[in-house]
Amino acid sequence: MKTIPYGKHHITKRDIQAVTEVLRSDFLTQGGGVEKFENSFSDYVGSKYSVAVSNGTSALQLAICALNIKQGQKVITTPITFVATANCIRHYGGEVVFSDIQSDTYLMDLDSVEELLRSAKLGEYVGIIPVNFSGKVINLAQLRKIADQYNLWIIEDACHSLGGFFIDDKGQKQPSGNGQFADISIFSFHPIKHITSGEGGMLTTNSQHLYKKLIQLRTHGITKDMACFRNNAILAGGIEDNKYPSWYMEMQVLGFNYRMTDIQAALGESQLKKADEKLENRKKIAKRYFEAFKNQPFVISQSGYFNDHAYHLYIIEVEHRKALYDFLRTKNIYTQIHYFPCHLMPYYQELGWKENDMPNAENYYRHCISVPMFPTLTIKEQKYVIKNIVEFYDKKLYIDSLKP
Ligand SMILES: *Cc1c(COP(=O)(O)O)cnc(C)c1O
Repeated sequence: MKTIPYGKHHITKRDIQAVTEVLRSDFLTQGGGVEKFENSFSDYVGSKYSVAVSNGTSALQLAICALNIKQGQKVITTPITFVATANCIRHYGGEVVFSDIQSDTYLMDLDSVEELLRSAKLGEYVGIIPVNFSGKVINLAQLRKIADQYNLWIIEDACHSLGGFFIDDKGQKQPSGNGQFADISIFSFHPIKHITSGEGGMLTTNSQHLYKKLIQLRTHGITKDMACFRNNAILAGGIEDNKYPSWYMEMQVLGFNYRMTDIQAALGESQLKKADEKLENRKKIAKRYFEAFKNQPFVISQSGYFNDHAYHLYIIEVEHRKALYDFLRTKNIYTQIHYFPCHLMPYYQELGWKENDMPNAENYYRHCISVPMFPTLTIKEQKYVIKNIVEFYDKKLYIDSLKP
């Protein structure tokens, strides 16, 4: 059996064609392809606005920058995420406050979040960054209620949840990133994610104010919108007719170059057309894993099967995790662990976080393993994965690894 990774991108002939069309055109960047992708993305998730950027990390940074945070102000996030989620807070001098996860969903526990906020001083906290870890969308309606009570913004880290949703109190389907509850949602198009643009990211929002800010921050804080100009037309060079010259643009705030290229946007746009199909495949794979593992004694806990889940990852919790991981590698099955708890990374330990601060997250980490999950995983490959995992426990193959 050839190597089976835990995740993999899928590029079609149409994707390649879309990219080569851009390469043959007059513009490689800023030619209109990005805007087209943004519009398609808004249609897909149901948001008013989308802003494409260079990657998911720059999306997080722009979101924080647009929402404002002052030195020392606190933001709550989860320890079970990719480090970029917490790091963006630090880039702006904010203080990261981790809140433990729920043992069953692996998502940020909202009761713990409320507890933190109840005992805080007014203005101590400015925002919350929930993560739809593995593809399960947190109940953003509930989180919004909490956030409003304490006047906090919400950045939804939706890097795992493109196409996922939650059902609100009224029974309405609320797609991840639709802008109804979070101030800003962010996505990544790294090849391991649901759709890819090589590297790439997206922010979605329903606020026109934030949208305009994000657009400006993405390109050095520069605006070409005459209606917003602060310098007068004469200073701008319109000495003859007191009108702004068409070359004129203004840098008004401190921004970045976090732009996406048209090459990337063309790939992203083409990939988006297949997003639903890919998601259906992920769900089928999840269902098969669920059926295969649900009555197995070696499974401590698994994410079950949920129709609202976007299944970026399929995680099970097991004993003898390291031995299983090593064994599967000898069978050319490459699993992965998501994630080592953020608060125990040396950088965050230096800031004062330590072992046993987040008991649920730490216990989860000891047992979790992400098994292969990507849209083109074949039934045959999946059966091979399942067979090897079951055999490992049936034949107690971990015994060898316990010997000194
Ligand atoms: C991938 C990912 C990011 C960062 O996205 P990049 O495009 O790799 O910068 C942030 N948060 C989560 C949860 C992710 O999975």
